[in-house]
Parts: sequence; C-alpha cells; structure tokens
Amino acid sequence: MAVPDHLQRHLDQGKRLRQGRHGRFAPSPTGRLHLGNLRTALVSWLQARCEGATWLLRIDDLDTPRNRPGAIEAIEADLQWLGLHWDGPVIRQSRRRGQYGSWLSWLRRSGALFPCRCSRRQLEGQPIYPGTCRDGDRGWGWQQQRLPSWRLRVPPQDPCGSGDVVLRRADGFVAYQLATVIDDISFGITDVVRGEDLRVAEAAQRSVFAALGWMPPRFHYVPLLCNERGEKLSKREASAGLAPLQQAGLDSAAVVGQLAAGLGLVPRGSRLSAQDLLADLTHRGFHASLS
Ligand code: GLU
Repeated sequence: MAVPDHLQRHLDQGKRLRQGRHGRFAPSPTGRLHLGNLRTALVSWLQARCEGATWLLRIDDLDTPRNRPGAIEAIEADLQWLGLHWDGPVIRQSRRRGQYGSWLSWLRRSGALFPCRCSRRQLEGQPIYPGTCRDGDRGWGWQQQRLPSWRLRVPPQDPCGSGDVVLRRADGFVAYQLATVIDDISFGITDVVRGEDLRVAEAAQRSVFAALGWMPPRFHYVPLLCNERGEKLSKREASAGLAPLQQAGLDSAAVVGQLAAGLGLVPRGSRLSAQDLLADLTHRGFHASLS
C-alpha cells in the first residue's frame, strides 16, 4: 500500500537531510541530567562535531506523567553551561504527536499492526513477545475497561530478533520505539550516540526502520556511569547532577575535564573547555575510536 502524500513528504525531507551528517541527543525530561547523561551528551556532541555533523537536541516528553516541571529548562541550561551547544530549535516530541498519529493510522490501515490484549503479567519472563494475539481477531475497542496495545507484525525470521514491537501502548501513548524512529527519519539522523542501557531497544528500532523501508542510523553506546555502590545512576538522584559540583565551586572546564578523564580521553585532573577537547580529539582522530 502506497504511503500517502503527506507522509511521503516526511520521507523525502529525511532523505534530503540524510545526504549530510546529523547526530542527536534525546533526553527524557524526567529530572535533571546526572553525570552519566552529561557524559553521554558530551560523547554525542564530540562525535557529531568531529564528523562535521549537526547536533540536535530532542526532548522525549511524550510520557507526560513522568515529566518533571522545570526539567527541560534545567537540561538546556546544563548543556549550555558545559559548552555543548545544539543546532536549531529544540525538538519537543509532545509537539509532534500529529505526525506519530498519522504514521500509526497508515501502518494500521496497511495491515502492518495488530491489536494485542496481553497484560504485562501475562508476558512476564518472556524476553520476546510470543505472538499470542498475532492471528486472533482481538478487536479495536474497549474490553474489560482496557484498550488494546498495537504491535507491529515483525516476520518471525526477522534478523533483528525483536518480536512484534508495541507501537501504541494500551494507555493510548505513542510508544517510544515509534516516536524515536519517526524522528530519526524526519531529521535525517545518521548517528545515534546514547547510553548503554538503550542497547536493548536497538533490535525493536531496527524492526520499525525496516517496516518503514528505511536504513537505520549507526548506533554507538556509551558505558553507564555508576555510583560508589556500583549502581546505575538515575535522574531521580538529584545529587548525581551538576548542581553539587557547581556549588562546590567547580567551573565548566573542571567538569569537562572530569567527564573526559572518566572516558579515558584526557589525564585525571585536566581542565579544558568542550571546544578545546574537541580540537584535541579532532587532531587525534577520535571518530575512528567510536565503533
Ligand atoms: N529518551 C530516551 C532516554 O532518555 C533516549 C532516546 C534515544 O537516545 O534513543 O532514555
């Protein structure tokens, strides 16, 4: 089934942009960025700038109950303070719901999706969706006060091994897997640099890219930063962000030095601006070290 004109225009725009190089950093505004997020932002920015790519800031604010007031402003301020300046206007997913909705309707009409009534409990312990609702006629409407989720039919022999990916959640929210793929297509993203915790999302995203006939970007992962107890940092731990360092009197050169030293890019105790780090790494051929 042919893609309708207005959706074809998104694809055409993506194709045009894809002739250049584009990276992006896409935090969810669930709190202030912690040092692990900032380290990922730094690597993403360095990777883009070393490649002469643009670097976009996208705010993944679709899951509104998890958004925290003031988080977007704090994210922007922290990136600016570190000297990680993005190109163009900030992209807010909450303003792009119309686009995601149009893609969902088209995918549904073309038979690429099926409604699924499985509860989280039913699927517990199954790493890949077992196809329970794939071939039944589960209906669109309310049943037992619940709407279905909508899953993409992924061929069982699919090399991504993602199973049938949820594109619209049962609570009505557009799933992250769909929104992120539509955005990466529309903005012609060629390189995604993100935290290691998102590696598990890659297979599902590759399946969505394949369903839309699109070549996925290159994915790179930055190791997660842990606290002294060896646990992964969370945005809810306010103590893990820039604020305590700023209160202790550290300037951005000291913090960039600390983040870069943690990545093994500069010796401990280095002080340098993001721009100086970029110049140093460009000189040393940093882009070759990101696989
Ligand atoms: N918003 C997602 C997160 O913060 C990341 C999206 C992505 O980089 O693909 O976990």
